[in-house]
Amino acid sequence: MKKMYHENDVNLGVLNNKKVAVLGYGSQGHAHAQNLRDSGVDVVVGLHEGSKSRNKAMNDGFKVKSVADATKESDIVMLLLPDTVQKQVYEESVRDNLREGQTLAFAHGFNIHYNRITPPDFVDVVMVAPKGPGHLVRSVFKSGSGVPALFAIEQDYTQNAKDTVLAYAKGIGATRAGVLETTFKEETETDLFGEQAVLCGGVSELIKSGFRTLVDAGYQPEVAYFECLHEMKLVVDLMYEGGFERMRYSISDTAEYGDYVSGKRVITESVRNGMKEVLEDIQNGNFAEKWIKENENGCKNFLEMRNKEYEMEISKVGRSLRNMMTFLNDEDKVCAKNC
Ligand code: NDP
Ligand code: MG
Ligand code: MG
Repeated sequence: MKKMYHENDVNLGVLNNKKVAVLGYGSQGHAHAQNLRDSGVDVVVGLHEGSKSRNKAMNDGFKVKSVADATKESDIVMLLLPDTVQKQVYEESVRDNLREGQTLAFAHGFNIHYNRITPPDFVDVVMVAPKGPGHLVRSVFKSGSGVPALFAIEQDYTQNAKDTVLAYAKGIGATRAGVLETTFKEETETDLFGEQAVLCGGVSELIKSGFRTLVDAGYQPEVAYFECLHEMKLVVDLMYEGGFERMRYSISDTAEYGDYVSGKRVITESVRNGMKEVLEDIQNGNFAEKWIKENENGCKNFLEMRNKEYEMEISKVGRSLRNMMTFLNDEDKVCAKNC
């Protein structure tokens, strides 16, 4: 492992008298902007004409400028827009407003690694990639802790890129948990693999398959939902706190024995071969090309898949069960994009 950076390894003072433009005020944008401000950093939010999140940023007390103006007046420009729109926004509003010595920053390596954005050689190009969803980057920070992050330096024009990127990582709270050096290539490929094979794609398919197996065998859908989806968080929380050891300490010996003998019957060699294929498609650029094409064609398949999943039995059962869970935040209960 390369060096892990913590609070005392990093000087936040590097950002004194520097202004950070946070471009985008979505999942990561609102969290970076608010955490940096709480760390004493001067932040301006950059948004496009007619942006839906403009009011939210203004209500949260930020100065909101156009992407071009925010870029011009800042020292560090952090692109927190959807990966698929970054190239266009960069070409239209960022590129021609960059000046010598500025820092262009990303939270994911996609656009640099797949050569969609090629910054001029007179800026630093860095990445701070929090290893967690934006809303947790904010809530965990408020609770006094931080979400870990990776950082990378693609271009070091000023010879100070490392101090700058680490200070940024400290400003969003990541050094409280640990910040590890990587490359744009490693971050991009592992991030895409993680979300596709394990965290999002893998877990959702595992849950759906377990739910379907129980319901097809005649069990109540509500029981199947609790068993396969609701309880997932409780078990994962234990792994998060203390790894498999803590999870296995807390579950019954019967569950632990079942874990050892049955997990391998479900996640078989063919599943691992599927994972390798997913990784190959990420490494050779096929996945990126497909996703960019999908966006260029108006996301027809993507939206169809989103709506199909929204209408699935497990989703409907889940919505009605979560309505009865008073401990959940009402806004979080049904939180669907475009549905
Ligand atoms: P979001 O989808 O949440 O970003 C939405 C923001 O971008 C909104 O403010 C939106 O404005 C703005 N936006 C959308 N389209 C445009 C456009 N055409 N022009 C200008 N602004 C636009 O992005 P994320 O926070 O999910 O992702 C940002 C970056 O962070 C990505 O590189 C991603 O890979 C990375 N990342 C994301 C993580 C996450 O938790 N989501 C985790 C780690 C990294 P409006 O809606 O107001 O119009
Ligand atoms: Mg990720
Ligand atoms: Mg990602």
